[in-house]
Amino acid sequence: MVTDPNDYTVEVNHISKGYKKQATKAVDDVSFKVNRGELFGLIGPDGAGKTTIFRILTTLLLADTGTARVDGFDVIKDYKKIRKKVGYMPGRFSLYQDLTVEENLRFFATVFHTSIEENYTLIRDIYQQIEPFKSRRAGALSGGMKQKLALSCALIHKPTVLFLDEPTTGVDPVSRKELWEMLKNLKSQGITIMVSTPYMDEANLCDRIALMINGRILEMATPENIARQFNKILWGVQSRNMPKLLQDLRNNGNVDTCFAFGDTHHATINNDLFTMEELESYLTLREHEGIIIRPIHAGIEDCFIELTLENR
Ligand code: ADP
Repeated sequence: MVTDPNDYTVEVNHISKGYKKQATKAVDDVSFKVNRGELFGLIGPDGAGKTTIFRILTTLLLADTGTARVDGFDVIKDYKKIRKKVGYMPGRFSLYQDLTVEENLRFFATVFHTSIEENYTLIRDIYQQIEPFKSRRAGALSGGMKQKLALSCALIHKPTVLFLDEPTTGVDPVSRKELWEMLKNLKSQGITIMVSTPYMDEANLCDRIALMINGRILEMATPENIARQFNKILWGVQSRNMPKLLQDLRNNGNVDTCFAFGDTHHATINNDLFTMEELESYLTLREHEGIIIRPIHAGIEDCFIELTLENR
């Protein structure tokens, strides 16, 4: 789909929000724009401020300062119009546990003065997967099935923009993959999607991402461009004793930072002249065996760690 780069579905301008009894702001002077038809990700750990932003954009919470527009409407003045336009899937499941699958869907359709039948095409691919269980109570569904039902309920009134707050948290890997496939399909139907996740690997599935921590956006670009901006020497290092390896790498003066990434440690090197052979000798002296050292390309998680350390 070709999108007009100046056609924004979401516009956030210098939004800040603090909660009572909290020393720091939950959202601190955040600005960003989401293009129509874009899949935009807010990526950050727990407490970064993602939910607060979603709640402000879905008109459930008022910001202290700043302005925001959704689909051209102001979140304060035009909140009623926005509520008709957006689909919102909150982090914790929004379903009525005692109602059946079908009753939940019918309830959400009725609230928005529509019917399942009227907008069935939009949810067909997702809903068909849970339709065989339509008489089951929502509370008795698996995590993945609940997520599909919640997504169907968020879509049943044909929103122009969809807000999904951590839709894959606590969901099994297969359902996670399926969800991202569903989002791709919805995007191809022209729906703008804002999604949040603490999982860095999911960042690569978004058109653009904002990396958030402590209420602030540290970086915003396409995942490729964020990874490209990483400008340090980065090596992947393995040996048979990975816990000791982490300590030994951190104790080397040429190693700036070192973190465990699955079965490899990622080390940034602060000395251009330091070679992999020198590091290997250093590790051999410390009784490491099966040493593998190779230069690697930074991923989103490497960038996130660097940005977090820089902004401490
Ligand atoms: P995220 O969705 O990224 O986990 P949140 O927006 O939920 O982040 O939270 C941001 C910060 O605001 C956290 O420090 C959290 O503890 C705090 N916070 C969120 N909601 C409330 C609330 N209702 N009352 C007080 N503090 C809150």
